[in-house]
Amino acid sequence: MGFKEEIEKRKTFAIISHPDAGKTTLTENLLLFGGAIREAGVVKGRKTGKFATSDWMKVEQERGISVTSSVMQFDFDGYKINILDTPGHEDFSEDTYRTLMAVDSAVMVIDAAEGIEPQTLKLFKVAKMRGIPVFTFINKLDRMGKEPFELLEEIEETLDIETYPMTWPVGMGPSFFGVINRRKREINPYREDEPLKFNEFYELETPHKIEEDVAYQTAMEEFMLVEEAGDQFDEEKIARGDLTPVFFGSALASFGIAEFLDTFVDFAPSPKANETKNGGIVEPTDKEFSGFIFKIQANMDPRHRDRIAFMRIVSGEFERGMDLTLQRTGKKSKISRATMFMADSTKTLDHAYAGDIIGLYDTGTYQIGDTLTSSKHIEYVDLPQFTPELFVKVSAKNVMKQKHFYKGIEQLVQEGAIQYYKTIHTNQPILGAVGQLQFEVFEHRMKNEYNTDVIMEPIGKKIARWIENEDVITDAMSTTRSTLVDDRYGNKVFLFENEFALRWFQDKYPVVKLYSLL
Ligand code: GDP
Repeated sequence: MGFKEEIEKRKTFAIISHPDAGKTTLTENLLLFGGAIREAGVVKGRKTGKFATSDWMKVEQERGISVTSSVMQFDFDGYKINILDTPGHEDFSEDTYRTLMAVDSAVMVIDAAEGIEPQTLKLFKVAKMRGIPVFTFINKLDRMGKEPFELLEEIEETLDIETYPMTWPVGMGPSFFGVINRRKREINPYREDEPLKFNEFYELETPHKIEEDVAYQTAMEEFMLVEEAGDQFDEEKIARGDLTPVFFGSALASFGIAEFLDTFVDFAPSPKANETKNGGIVEPTDKEFSGFIFKIQANMDPRHRDRIAFMRIVSGEFERGMDLTLQRTGKKSKISRATMFMADSTKTLDHAYAGDIIGLYDTGTYQIGDTLTSSKHIEYVDLPQFTPELFVKVSAKNVMKQKHFYKGIEQLVQEGAIQYYKTIHTNQPILGAVGQLQFEVFEHRMKNEYNTDVIMEPIGKKIARWIENEDVITDAMSTTRSTLVDDRYGNKVFLFENEFALRWFQDKYPVVKLYSLL
């Protein structure tokens, strides 16, 4: 394959969903389809901690996170597909959001019985902000769930996106018969093998006993309605993230996956161009290598206490042993240890292309958002900062350890592990996070890497708002219910207890213009 073709063939995406919607099961079935794994249970198996050898891993193991399956590549129909994991539950963190900065599309998995859940919504908003295509897989049709029209309406209203069903379910739960494949004009039966073709009048070409079935008749009527009155298929809208192709199926039964993959590879974008800080654009097919770091994972290998920096390749081709310049410092170094992540292993990498994610061994050199290039002098735009929802006051247990304490905080903040704030006048350090695990990881790493025990106390604040017009702020506005702090860049931020406190503040000080980050 030529250089351009290699890049064209790459599809890099993340699955966004609420815990338990079926992300792991779907991932596994995609890998099965791609022949990357031979049996189900491999991805899940990771959660039991096969690789749990270090203290760090123990924290992760307790939490049931699978570090090693952060990125998985598989082949399908000549395409190289990269799936990036977005952790859920309490392990939800800024990393989860940042992962969406490194993909070209997202697949949203929805539990048919639950509809849109909070974490799906949060992640969808980030995908929306990036304007990337979102594909929807409505899962667990083998169980009773909401009606298909109700689900589509919920997606359209909650997420403000048009829907285009690529498949339509016939029945659900015990009466689940299968899905109508809109492109292929056939019904893929759940329990039988042979697809049933239908003609332009929605009549089956070969009469079948299912035609008498109520579920079948209802589904066909609904489907005709969708075709007549539903949104039009529009590739450009899909590309902009304004319309989501929708699939129905059961990840557990590996049903509806083929329909999904066929369409996904046709309409999901190949690697996109990226914007630089000075407004330039770098195309993926640019021969010169470039990439950016979007995630840093500590202590993958306990014997070396090192880290792995995850880099999204933006342009060019990576070759083992190549010299790359870290643009922030101007330092050049030979990259002899890079990893490619496969479904059930990591392998030392020889070649990788724009769109791929590679892991670089790191001994503290890299930061989130860093650009590395083979020769260009460019830096990619900063990754966005996200509004934290959890805050703690932090201090060193041993006052003699202040130096280590601040050094540790500085490093971990630079890595993007945690957000740092301090109260005005009193300079009390405050940490912000989007997920509880970030605090635990912080505490653990401060002890292990910076030899500092920390004390963290919740401060009873949930909402952070930045200020457009800082000049109107007075000291009197900072109270226990609306605490004024500086962020790490010196911007003023108010921390509020709850929505009520926020509204109260806005009513009292309408002159203050507040805003939130993503
Ligand atoms: P995740 O938290 O989103 O990764 O969800 P999992 O893939 O771990 O699935 C959560 C639970 O739902 C597990 O018990 C799965 O076996 C189950 N599950 C996943 N997909 C389906 C499905 O299509 N049908 C049914 N009935 N259960 C499913």
